[in-house]
Amino acid sequence: MKSIFDKVSIVLVSTTHPGNIGAAARAMKTMSLKNLRLVNPLNFPSAEASVRAAGADDVLAECKQFSNLEEAIKDCDLVIGTSARIRGIPWPMIHPRECAKKISKKAYSSIAIVFGRESSGLSNEELQLCNMVLKIPTNSEYNSLNLAAAVQIICYEMYLVVSDINTIEYEKNNLVFISQEKMEQFYKNLEDCFIRIGFYDTNKPKKLMHRIRRLFNRAQLYESEWKILHGFISKIQEKTKNNHN
Ligand code: SAH
Repeated sequence: MKSIFDKVSIVLVSTTHPGNIGAAARAMKTMSLKNLRLVNPLNFPSAEASVRAAGADDVLAECKQFSNLEEAIKDCDLVIGTSARIRGIPWPMIHPRECAKKISKKAYSSIAIVFGRESSGLSNEELQLCNMVLKIPTNSEYNSLNLAAAVQIICYEMYLVVSDINTIEYEKNNLVFISQEKMEQFYKNLEDCFIRIGFYDTNKPKKLMHRIRRLFNRAQLYESEWKILHGFISKIQEKTKNNHN
């Protein structure tokens, strides 16, 4: 089955500066994308594109070239145009995070994300070939990102959704958060210890256990940390067996 990264193509329309093509290829590769389509680039192939691509020259080498946008997207079942400006005629709008979620659904088999020229963006005719328009939220008084920076942000959001980065990081380090049920058991045993050693007077409870809960809720224990505390408390309970008030 095709992965999301295989399904998505980045389409650059009439890019003027070859350095931006190279930088876009680099942005794509850092986020696991490799399908680059170029529509009428002004100057490509170019040494400057290769320099700016750094280690992503394989993305450049495998890119496909087209003479117009219609040709470049004809096999796609979802086409998302990008624009720094909201245009005259309202078009269905989407922002990068929503776009990433939409793409991660299995409904689509070939998706194009289309980027415009540095000077004037996409024409209205080109936007009319798109199902929707994505605008990266920006300062309302200065909204135009560098082309490759726009590619980077959109690919990054996609990468976060698709690779579920949180799970990966935690699994890799074997870090498992403790369940609330085990925390309840911990609070019960801790309270019992406090009482046994005379630290806590149940007749004058103040807010000790409330504060203790706040402390540990804030800390969010990993299972391995919980085990240390659990062992420590069990030891106190064992040594104070006869201390019941
Ligand atoms: N002056 C142009 C800006 C072009 S910047 C305009 O008004 O559209 C080159 C390309 O980078 C844009 O066509 C778009 O594809 C992308 N881009 C730049 N800023 C963006 C933003 N805020 N949101 C979405 N795409 C953006």
